[in-house]
Amino acid sequence: MLAKMMNSPLLVSSILRHAAAYHGDTEIVSCSVEGPIHRYNYADLNRRSCKLANALCRLGLRFGDRVGTLAWNGHRHLELYYGVSGSGLVCHTINPRLFREQIGYIIDHAGDSVIFSDPVFLPILETLVDRLAGMKAIVIMTDVAHMPASEKLPNLVCYETLLSAESDDFDWPVVDENTACGLCYTSGTTGDPKGVLYSHRSAVLHAMAVVVPDVYGLSAADSVLPVVPMFHVNAWGLPFAAPMVGAKLVMPGPNLDGASLHALFESEGVTLTAGVPTVWLGLLDWMDSQRKCFSTLKRVAIGGSAVPPVMIQRFQDLGATVRHAWGMTETSPVGLVATLLPKHASLAHEQKLALASKQGRPIFGVELRIDGDDGRPVACDGKAFGALRVRGPWVADGYYNVAESPAHSAGWFETGDVATMDEDGFVRIVDRSKDVVKSGGEWISSIELENIAQAHPAIREAAVVAVPDARWGERPVLVVVLKPGQGFDHQDMLDLYAGKVARWSVPDAVISVDELPHTATGKLRKVEIRRIVLGEYARRARVT
Ligand code: ADP
Repeated sequence: MLAKMMNSPLLVSSILRHAAAYHGDTEIVSCSVEGPIHRYNYADLNRRSCKLANALCRLGLRFGDRVGTLAWNGHRHLELYYGVSGSGLVCHTINPRLFREQIGYIIDHAGDSVIFSDPVFLPILETLVDRLAGMKAIVIMTDVAHMPASEKLPNLVCYETLLSAESDDFDWPVVDENTACGLCYTSGTTGDPKGVLYSHRSAVLHAMAVVVPDVYGLSAADSVLPVVPMFHVNAWGLPFAAPMVGAKLVMPGPNLDGASLHALFESEGVTLTAGVPTVWLGLLDWMDSQRKCFSTLKRVAIGGSAVPPVMIQRFQDLGATVRHAWGMTETSPVGLVATLLPKHASLAHEQKLALASKQGRPIFGVELRIDGDDGRPVACDGKAFGALRVRGPWVADGYYNVAESPAHSAGWFETGDVATMDEDGFVRIVDRSKDVVKSGGEWISSIELENIAQAHPAIREAAVVAVPDARWGERPVLVVVLKPGQGFDHQDMLDLYAGKVARWSVPDAVISVDELPHTATGKLRKVEIRRIVLGEYARRARVT
């Protein structure tokens, strides 16, 4: 029997309409590309998103067309999220940190009709002139006074001029909730980048799932600063989640260094922030050196790569709780969050820290299984590991314009991660399957070895990679960036790991480098680190 309930579609525009109507005077604060802080509110966001939607119609865009964005977190980028998606187009956020060829490939593959870009990314566009020839417009997101000139791209359109001609009245169309609203390409560490095509339904359901107390715990009383860029999996859903509950949004623009972030946290009363571990290393080191603390910050959502326990401790010492989360571009992204349960309240501090450093428990809406080599679920004992598979309404079912589907196994999406689960459902990501060190038939978790190294006072950042070994197949090697003026030798490494991991898991060597390479989304670039290690091994072989 069919129920007698309204079948209202879940649409991105409904979030904006709600925020404008009931949280209209809640502020959105942005570090503008022009320099000064820009302030307006959700009612203004709605008006300007309507103007943008009218402008997109005037440019001749039709239902389903893709609109590319190359921009930092700011109010104009937010207007694109709503103006583009709300009018039935697809907001394609492009990661400007990718290699130029990849950006060109992505723009081509997505078939973008228009590009909206921050002025600072104009040099990237100028290298892609041939690919941009068929665009309906290239819009620079600034005002007339700050419009750059370009010989290579003479017909640039000014964002503010584009909007100024338009009415702020627009009827958001009621489309099927399964219509695509956003497109984000994976960083393509293996093969070409692949486009994950989000729907209105998946974006709204994901936002509803992450605002709850045990995930972001968002309310109208919060001030939210997404450090995670809007070009990285929709800034983990925060541009949809914050207006849904009427939380204040604080957009950092390009200023992601410790001093700038801390100043914004303090001046805007930020209570929740989110970003990858590498950004927090910079902030925490700067705060230590300046002896600063937080006045209002309560929660820090961290994901994208594993959070070392020492980072959770450092935030705790400053009065903020870390919410360690796991996700992927293909999972919108949030799938797991490590929020402790009431029964854990009486645990010793170290045990609580160990749990909070796991990647967490599935949030409602994400089902998962961890399968061994035989395809059957492994024991939930926190030790047995296998392939992590997930499914749910905000998990990708295919990629944009690619015949091959994501790796699926009987309706489950293959994450490519190796994981364990304990009896309470806490999942620990052991490694990406391609990063795990396979030594003498045993698997060694590079994440576990990195987390331990990260806690050493001399080490700023650590990576563990596998090198080929004639006897064992592969052996782990530790690569470290030291804090200024610090030393760390082979014996220090043996002392560090003694008693903490099995003897055969201890890395064979430690190599110190000035800097570790990161991907466009802030993860350690393991393939390149492996190359550095092999180069160093070859050099040492020549010397000896
Ligand atoms: P890309 O696949 O483009 O590098 P994603 O952001 O989609 O970018 O990366 C997803 C992967 O990042 C996951 O499969 C997992 O390996 C890793 N990851 C994400 N969050 C965590 C976390 N909290 N701990 C460990 N690894 C993580």
